[in-house]
Amino acid sequence: LEKLLSGKKILIMGVANKRSIAWGCAQAMLDNGAELIFTYQNARLKKSILRLVPDEERLVECDVSSDDSIKSAFAAIKEKFGKIDGIVHAIAYANKDELAGDIMNSSREGYALAQDISAFSLIAVAKYGIEILNDPASIVTLTYFGSERAIPNYNVMGVAKAALEANVRYLARDMAKYGVRVNAISAGAIKTLAVTGVKDHGDLLRISEERTVDGKSVTTNEVGGAAAFLVSDLSTGVVGDIIYVDKGVHLI
Ligand code: NAD
Repeated sequence: LEKLLSGKKILIMGVANKRSIAWGCAQAMLDNGAELIFTYQNARLKKSILRLVPDEERLVECDVSSDDSIKSAFAAIKEKFGKIDGIVHAIAYANKDELAGDIMNSSREGYALAQDISAFSLIAVAKYGIEILNDPASIVTLTYFGSERAIPNYNVMGVAKAALEANVRYLARDMAKYGVRVNAISAGAIKTLAVTGVKDHGDLLRISEERTVDGKSVTTNEVGGAAAFLVSDLSTGVVGDIIYVDKGVHLI
């Protein structure tokens, strides 16, 4: 039976555990017939992802803070699997110190680190991705409403997400000649490992849930559904856009 993503090979970057948004994307894409490959950040996270993906062949180490790591990961993927049809970039990082209190207390280093891992990494992934992506292909990244509004304690990560969203637009323009579309999903707040870095994240999660149209937070599976759409041929007209998948939180 032909499914939406039959014959498509998608690289999923950013699974830490079963709560990860990247894992929700993986589930939706598997359900729709995709073949998946995963990158993990380091040896510690490999152990965690191995519980979800026992097929070690499909797991490749990639630390996006290093060009060499991205280059060698993508070379290994190309050698094992050939060219691929899409990449999900579900990666962000900021020090805990930067995710609390006044943004004036951010350090120069902490600000730069958040930008490097959370925004520049999409450019690096796209750059080295040219070598392994088919024409056509699709890149999807994950952003958050803190790029547009001053969300308590989100601080430098909000600034990094604003940069990430701008990167999506510039990359969408410049990757078009390689047949690669680039888009982002602005996901509602979900309790994942990354969110626990934000001070008072319990309040953030509770207020976000209250502001959904039906009082129930968006799930990683729902975000995954939109990601599956964005890597599919149903979305060939969607280019350089930011799609909200937040159960309406941004409306109110
Ligand atoms: P998560 O902690 O499950 O995933 C974050 C991932 O980033 C982890 O797998 C981690 O290993 C990876 N990562 C961090 N630094 C890395 C590096 N140097 N190299 C490679 N990988 C690295 O949390 P999540 O919430 O699923 O986050 C995924 C994405 O979704 C992030 O971009 C996050 O900002 C975004 N997002 C999250 C929410 C939310 O409420 N959880 C909302 C909107 C957007």
